[in-house]
Amino acid sequence: MNPSRAGSHPPSIRELKGVGPQVAERLARLGITTIPDLLFHLPARYQDRTRSVPIGALRAGDSAVVQGEVLLTEIKFARRAMLLSRISDGTGSMTLRFYHFNARQKEQLARGARVRCFGDVRTNQGMPEMIHPEYRIVTDDDDYQHADHLTPIYPLTEGISQYQLRRLSQQALDWWQKNHSTISDLLPVDVVKSQQFPSLGETIQFVHRPPPDADVSLLESKRHPSQVRLAFEELLAQQLSLRRLRATAQQLSSRALTATGELTAPFLKALPFTPTRAQQRVMEEIAADLSKNHPMQRLVQGDVGSGKTLVAVHAALQAVEAGCQAAVMAPTEILAEQHLRNFERWLAPFGIVPEWLSGRQKSTERQRALQRIASGDARIVVGTHALFQEDVVFSELALVIIDEQHRFGVHQRLALRQKGQRDGESPHQLIMTATPIPRTLAMSVYADLDCSIIDELPPGRTPIETVVVSDSRRDQVVQRIRSACKDGRQVYWVCTLIEESEALQCRAAVDTAAQLQEALPDLRIALVHGRMKGADKDAVMKEFKSGERDVLVATTVIEVGVDVPNASLIVIENAERLGLAQLHQLRGRVGRGAAASVCVLMYHAPLSALARSRLAALRETNDGFEIARRDLELRGPGEVLGTRQTGLTQLRIAELGRDQWMLPNVANAAERVLNENSQLVAPLIERWIGHAIEYGKV
Ligand code: ADP
Ligand code: MG
Repeated sequence: MNPSRAGSHPPSIRELKGVGPQVAERLARLGITTIPDLLFHLPARYQDRTRSVPIGALRAGDSAVVQGEVLLTEIKFARRAMLLSRISDGTGSMTLRFYHFNARQKEQLARGARVRCFGDVRTNQGMPEMIHPEYRIVTDDDDYQHADHLTPIYPLTEGISQYQLRRLSQQALDWWQKNHSTISDLLPVDVVKSQQFPSLGETIQFVHRPPPDADVSLLESKRHPSQVRLAFEELLAQQLSLRRLRATAQQLSSRALTATGELTAPFLKALPFTPTRAQQRVMEEIAADLSKNHPMQRLVQGDVGSGKTLVAVHAALQAVEAGCQAAVMAPTEILAEQHLRNFERWLAPFGIVPEWLSGRQKSTERQRALQRIASGDARIVVGTHALFQEDVVFSELALVIIDEQHRFGVHQRLALRQKGQRDGESPHQLIMTATPIPRTLAMSVYADLDCSIIDELPPGRTPIETVVVSDSRRDQVVQRIRSACKDGRQVYWVCTLIEESEALQCRAAVDTAAQLQEALPDLRIALVHGRMKGADKDAVMKEFKSGERDVLVATTVIEVGVDVPNASLIVIENAERLGLAQLHQLRGRVGRGAAASVCVLMYHAPLSALARSRLAALRETNDGFEIARRDLELRGPGEVLGTRQTGLTQLRIAELGRDQWMLPNVANAAERVLNENSQLVAPLIERWIGHAIEYGKV
């Protein structure tokens, strides 16, 4: 049982009318097991059924109640039979359209009948219509009353109808009227005061049953004070949950990896360059963490090319010199293999051969690798998710390094730590990301992690020149490719998503490769896209890396981390369709060697104002943090991070983009709650996150 549940026993939904075992099971899929859960299952939208709208005042997109008299009802045969009923209320006329109907319906809707209906309005050849409206025939002695509040529309699950949820939430509200004290206001009084929030009682009643005069558009945009209050509370709960995870991690024990310097010192000495100050600082931060006997949970944010690999190798060596093993995990085979090569190169002088573990290995090879990992002969292991399959047993794993964290959420971090746990000891975790985000946001979404920032690029890099050109100048771009390759350089050509379909994107890449080959017959052109088998993809990448190919035509599969220093030109098609962060990542594929590099952002006219400012931002700066800042400004964090990429679990009412302004206040409130009202922590997490994260196990 969840510890936060112990003590209080909120009543089960089974106590409500209409909830048997089957309905209870379905509600559980929505995270609803108690009556309070039901009160915090919030409407996604609202409908206004509190009054009828004159037909003449309807607008497409409205959901409205309309009342009128039937002028004509007929069955029409177009591609299939449909029932069409024309009604009028004196202000205008509209059509009710039914594709599924029966004979009785046609009779009911006979000319002269009075009908009241509710549905979504659209226009068809200038005429308003509703498809499959809810409707009823109105008689003189009808005691129908319009709804006395806006109608909530709840998120559903299979087997539970809107009607059912409305009845249940009504019962929950009634229950609450009688048991006010059982659901307490979990926000500290001074927070409610300083933010001028309505009380929890007003809030809950309001969001479930807004009065007829409530501002629907304010509600729909979730900016009503009641909703703001709930969003604040939810973000606070998320923040507290991450901080609790962090506190829990600090209670776990880990091997303290004392840095003897036996390997790390000669490693640093043998480097052909001096680490940047930022690299040095981050290496020290990591070394200090690793020397403690509870697990490190550190995120290293560093722009493309800032030299994160060096930091990773250094950390791995500290684990090895302490007599332990380190595992390095990357999200794809291509990236994992690249790490393998890098580690091999850096570690060769010390007689350490990194072990390789991938899902695609031959079984004999894999068996041998598994053996060396289990015996401890393998000190550093590099691979993909295959590293953490059931049959992989480490002898003394003490450090897990995860590259490209932005594909990783809090759940995966936890799962990985659990898998690495052995003899009561958890591995240290080092997470590296090339998608830096600004501090206020990092504080919220990575509150379970310590953050380090590599905010400096190695010296001597020639900045990438970025040019923005219309695709009407494609021929000139092709000439650029010819001359770059004549100078012995290599080129990327990236085909981006034109339609929302991977298949079409791949076809575009295939076509482009063919066209380029025709235009540049002397050049060796390779193609890689998402629909190719993994092994084929890898083979092509290998050829390109080794210089056997001049041009690589690719879909956005090459976005992350691929490192071919000889490539000095990248062309990105339909650049106006991509986000800033993604363009910056793509651009980072060049500028990795000493040669001056160029990034051509090709767009298809006309450019929207937003697209224009995005492309301008890239032309103006090469700084990943600055670009992240502008990206957030232009698109908001919801878009930029996506839910999977944040540390947050699924949000019910808050939205990072819209609610970003409250994050500093939320962080302050979290601090207050932890210091002065710590009894609120568990109930807040229970209310908003419930069992989404299983603390008991961590
Ligand atoms: P990223 O942070 O994008 O993973 P890498 O670790 O791949 O960056 O480093 C990019 C390149 O910079 C590599 O070729 C690496 O050897 C080189 N490099 C790393 N640190 C330094 C440094 N301090 N001085 C010069 N070159 C460096
Ligand atoms: Mg990297």
